[in-house]
Amino acid sequence: MSWTDIQVTELRKLWSEPHTAAQIGRKLGVSKNAVIGKAYRLGLPPKRGERQKGPRLVATSPALSTPRSCAWPVGDPTNSDFHFCGSSVVTGRPYCSEHCAVAYTHYRSEAEATVATEKAVKEAVA
Ligand SMILES: [Zn+2]
Repeated sequence: MSWTDIQVTELRKLWSEPHTAAQIGRKLGVSKNAVIGKAYRLGLPPKRGERQKGPRLVATSPALSTPRSCAWPVGDPTNSDFHFCGSSVVTGRPYCSEHCAVAYTHYRSEAEATVATEKAVKEAVA
């Protein structure tokens, strides 16, 4: 697609304003990709509006990954009475104090198992 001088002038002006590339494209009668491509060739700075979409999505994820009710699964997932514990969580943890204790014991025994394996390997090599 070829750009007229008027379109380029308009693009430069709109680009400096808080419009998205798609909105600018609609005003100029070109595609969003044409707008972005032309802006890139003109050496215009990347639009902030386009970049903010990422961080905004990331900002919602900590809330999802740290639920306020215990996410410990109770029962068999194939049974209809399967549910999550739902008790109040320990701050910064996904589980309640009772299930944190279970999870902690589990992780510790796993770590101990790893240490035991490493020790056995060292002894075997030596
Ligand atoms: Zn729990």
